[in-house]
Amino acid sequence: MDKYTQHCTLKEISFWDTFFVIDKNGKKKPSIRFYRWVSIIGFHLLFILSYRMDIQILEGTLSGSRLFGFHLIDPFVSLQVFLAYHHIPINLIIGTVTISVFYLFFGGRAYCSWVCPYGLVSEIGEKINRTLITKKIIKERKFDHRVKYLFWILFVTLTFTSSYLVFESMNIVGILSRALIYGWSAALSFVVVVFLVEVFYSQRAWCRYVCPVGVTYGALGWVSMEKIEWNDSCDHCGVCSTVCLVPHVLEITKKNAEVEGKSHVFIQSGDCTLCGRCVEVCHHDSLNFKNKLGKIV
Ligand code: SF4
Ligand code: SF4
Repeated sequence: MDKYTQHCTLKEISFWDTFFVIDKNGKKKPSIRFYRWVSIIGFHLLFILSYRMDIQILEGTLSGSRLFGFHLIDPFVSLQVFLAYHHIPINLIIGTVTISVFYLFFGGRAYCSWVCPYGLVSEIGEKINRTLITKKIIKERKFDHRVKYLFWILFVTLTFTSSYLVFESMNIVGILSRALIYGWSAALSFVVVVFLVEVFYSQRAWCRYVCPVGVTYGALGWVSMEKIEWNDSCDHCGVCSTVCLVPHVLEITKKNAEVEGKSHVFIQSGDCTLCGRCVEVCHHDSLNFKNKLGKIV
């Protein structure tokens, strides 16, 4: 992908080419997507190795695991356990606090782009969906992203009233994570159904409109230290919004956005997954990763 001389975006290039970028000096190097995929595959390789070869580095699944013996728990799992059983074991508290502190420093929904295996599958579905739209085989369908909050409330309410972890029976992240580590199961067919919906009906529908895991990490994202920072070298071309999973967070890049004379502004929304796609297509380098902690210390 060559954003400087050819203004490439994800639309015009092959899927393979998105794994490499041409830098300002004309050198080819791995893209942010390349590192994200390495991260996701790497985490799951550690899970698989721990299970199959008992190397005990990262054991369990994404819902609940142990890293060198330290508990790590998905905060939405802990919330469901508490609501269902009105009690939360100490290991879940420790694991949830550890994970929350980590994501407070490194971006709440970074989980979605850098850890979640379905995010990776969904990116393949997105590419197929974009191709079908370009060939006019299907229409583009978008919905109000705020519907995800209704799903979050629905799952939380169902868990509280039924004393059963309702969402976990359809949590495609957990299903996929378990399938990769422990082997295939019939539940995987639900992941296939969601994937087909995303390919033929609405691009990345699960991550955009349904997943309560993403919403919970998004809450951490609002106060997280890791952000995308915009600067006023922007020419408001709008290319960044066309590649973003959650384009509403990039309002700041619009010509009439109120930036109050500021030359640098953080994208504050917790919906940003820190995928870096906007960074990678912005030909003016107006968007960059920045950790607020660097400004404090
Ligand atoms: S941030 Fe970059 S890609 Fe986005 S509108 Fe501005 S110049 Fe274009
Ligand atoms: S704003 Fe940029 S980093 Fe955040 S989700 Fe959108 S494309 Fe990814």
